[in-house]
Amino acid sequence: MNEPIVIVGAGLGGIRLAENLRNGGYEGELVLIGEEPHAPYDRPPLSKAVLTGDHTTTDLKRPEYYTDSRIDLRTGTRVTAVDPASHTVTVDHDGVVDQVSYGTLVLATGLVARRFPGADDVRGVHVIRTIDDALALRADAATATKAAVVGAGFIGCEVAASLRALDIPVTVVEPAQTPLAVAVGATIGEMITRLHREADVDLRTGTGVDELAVADGAVTGIVLSDGTTIDADLVVVGIGGYPDLGYLDGSGIPMAPRESGGGIACNGVGLAVDDVYALGDAANWTDVHGDHNRVEHWNHVVDQAAIVAAQLLGHPIAHQAVPYFWSDQYGLKIQMLGAPHSDDDVHVVDDDGRRFLAYYSRDGILTGVVGAGRVGKLMKTRPHLLTPTPIAALLDA
Ligand SMILES: Cc1cc2nc3c(=O)[nH]c(=O)nc-3n(C[C@H](O)[C@H](O)[C@H](O)COP(=O)(O)OP(=O)(O)OC[C@H]3O[C@@H](n4cnc5c(N)ncnc54)[C@H](O)[C@@H]3O)c2cc1C
Repeated sequence: MNEPIVIVGAGLGGIRLAENLRNGGYEGELVLIGEEPHAPYDRPPLSKAVLTGDHTTTDLKRPEYYTDSRIDLRTGTRVTAVDPASHTVTVDHDGVVDQVSYGTLVLATGLVARRFPGADDVRGVHVIRTIDDALALRADAATATKAAVVGAGFIGCEVAASLRALDIPVTVVEPAQTPLAVAVGATIGEMITRLHREADVDLRTGTGVDELAVADGAVTGIVLSDGTTIDADLVVVGIGGYPDLGYLDGSGIPMAPRESGGGIACNGVGLAVDDVYALGDAANWTDVHGDHNRVEHWNHVVDQAAIVAAQLLGHPIAHQAVPYFWSDQYGLKIQMLGAPHSDDDVHVVDDDGRRFLAYYSRDGILTGVVGAGRVGKLMKTRPHLLTPTPIAALLDA
């Protein structure tokens, strides 16, 4: 690999890559550049423990780690341009613009939250992507009397669960008929929906939000596309995020087609163009079938950081991991192994009305396993996803 290694994005992927490089024996210069004023921190607790508890940080490393590991961490520094021809990036730190040279560049710039149009300056309206977002939301939740969550994706569902844990009445609005159906299919989406109804969440599906109701600069409610107004003095917009890649304009670094999730187009080990890699939520790698695929899950980022580090250290590893993600809602850990399609066959093998375990199959072969409150049982199925396993064999076992 060419030195120095410059990593853009001081989040999960950036710090995991730096750590893997140092642990793997890389002795050269290592620069980690992040736009946020914070050292790398973990995002999953933001919609969970940070909202319901009193954490003010979820740092991934002790402060001394960076000096001890000779990682030149530059926080509050935004990369505004990349020039692969001259192997430089342009950085902006508090208005001071500079160039940083790289031998190898790794882009791990994550996502930004999609916002509700026209809501930026309205008090009481929140998104949740950064620790500052989460702390601002928690501060408003302390005095909120009624909340509305726009979007019932994983983060929207988790925020709803956290707000209910704080005893705030919550309405969740979701344009699809079934929450999470895109990710887990309609059958499992309905089983997760039960948890919300059991917790007295007012769930409105099949309708969008047209506009916010605002008085004196503060939100007072949301107006649904069916004309109904829902009162709320706290609104959380959970309508997903997108890779904000304007800093790559004119760089020649390829983008993946929108239909495959967009993001930085890479090969199967994260290489985008010579000496430039990308990983994490912003990256779109080709999978084993040659299809482009952009994934927004914690373990996926960690796996990719290990693969890129191994690549740079000169002892490549294959991408063998079984896809995995989790979500915490209403005291249950919801987990999925594998990468089933939302229209795969679903086989519910265990359901007590709250906790459940189900298999997915396509053409008779196991494609995934999903569970709620079934951690041990679910993890035991992992080996079956490493090789093609007939679903009949599992159902008969
Ligand atoms: C609220 C929340 C809850 C989540 N819960 C779960 C969960 O339960 N389970 C799960 O599997 N996953 C979860 N995730 C997803 C998981 O956290 C992400 O997949 C992971 O953080 C992505 O890592 P990353 O390094 O790609 O990006 P990030 O962690 O987002 O880091 C990217 C960093 O790059 C910085 N950056 C961007 N552009 C620039 C630039 N031009 N110059 C310099 N810096 C830049 C950003 O400011 C950011 O700090 C959750 C995410 C969120 C937001």
